[in-house]
Amino acid sequence: MTYPIITLKPHKEESLERFHPWVFSGAIAKAPEGIEEGDIVAVESHDHRLIGLGHYQIGSIAVRMLTFGEDAELGTDFYRQRLQQALRLRQSIFGNDKLQITNDKPETDQRKTENEAYRLVHGEGDFLPGLVVDVYGPTAVIQAHSPGMHFARMQIAQALVDLDADIRNVYYKSETTLPYKAHLDPVNAYLIGKYETDIAQENGLKFHVDWLKGQKTGFFVDQRDNRALLERYSKDRKVLNMFCYTGGFSFYAMRGGAQLVHSVDSSAKAISLTNANVELNFPGDPRHKAYAEDAFKFLDNIGKGEYDLIVLDPPAFAKHRTALKNALRGYQRLNARAIERIAPGGILFTFSCSQAVSKEQFRLAVFSAAAQTGRRVRILHQLTQPADHPVNIYHPEGEYLKGLVLYVE
Ligand code: SAH
Repeated sequence: MTYPIITLKPHKEESLERFHPWVFSGAIAKAPEGIEEGDIVAVESHDHRLIGLGHYQIGSIAVRMLTFGEDAELGTDFYRQRLQQALRLRQSIFGNDKLQITNDKPETDQRKTENEAYRLVHGEGDFLPGLVVDVYGPTAVIQAHSPGMHFARMQIAQALVDLDADIRNVYYKSETTLPYKAHLDPVNAYLIGKYETDIAQENGLKFHVDWLKGQKTGFFVDQRDNRALLERYSKDRKVLNMFCYTGGFSFYAMRGGAQLVHSVDSSAKAISLTNANVELNFPGDPRHKAYAEDAFKFLDNIGKGEYDLIVLDPPAFAKHRTALKNALRGYQRLNARAIERIAPGGILFTFSCSQAVSKEQFRLAVFSAAAQTGRRVRILHQLTQPADHPVNIYHPEGEYLKGLVLYVE
């Protein structure tokens, strides 16, 4: 293929030869005139060896690599191949039949699988930097984080329905994820098919997914395994689910036999989603209550020992490195309040989904919080993202979800 060529400075190909998927703008010696955001480019070393192909973008990450060493046409066939690899991995994770939906009796909504919500593409972790695809039964929701993936969206959509995964509808959602400086026209729209159902299942529990207006692709599929773990700890406990969003942890706690479950989120929309999801699984169950309130204020106002299982799953406090210090202070403050107030023998599930905060930094923030309260705290589990959010070993930045389960005496 004859894609425009970007030439690197001497030695700047070294990390790429170890498959790190980003070219930083400072590594570039020469870029052809007239290349535009989202263009496919060939990257070569200073001595003109082909390193691979990628998407060009203006910014500190100038190229996101899609192939290494190969010169191929990056069209629908390329996406078909990559998505096929991604699906094969999910089949190994979940078992083949769990990813298929029976459509023989759509009118009775007969499903043979318990997990219809999964991440099919996790950016660099699936060798497709800039692309996220979550699947909810018959609908795939695409998020583009780079102009290149934005321009490739129709090819990706076509490749998705061609897969043997029973995807019939493809919704594209890029309004909040594309770099706004790129001046693209972000769209939220069906590229293929249309609305069929907004109900999917996770580990046999049902939930509504609002990909039209919800955060991210409409549901946080990355907490699936951690919710299942929480279920095991819920029996007879008084559970407080802070930052509940669509209430994932809440309905698992209820299935686990919690005495009561209180869900808190500052967004009224999130609270109504939580109520709807609890109703879907446990209609009329009086154990659940939801509060549209600020988490910090809520924690200030509860009595000591009122809850003996608390979940803290706040939004990313640090979206960028510059905000790191404040973010760490935020985690410390939040965790200190929960540790201070949880009942003796209480279990705290605490998370950080900030990519800029490392596992060690998060643990240090929680350690400082514990020390501040003077209580005895032990770590029972160290949690992370599930296997359908794989981390490319050459791109450790892809490991973003960190969690600790603490036992507080
Ligand atoms: N635990 C959820 C995901 C949490 S996303 C799940 O399992 O799906 C983070 C949530 O925190 C969002 O719903 C957001 O509305 C809420 N939020 C953000 N700031 C908050 C605050 N100060 N107090 C309470 N909720 C807040």
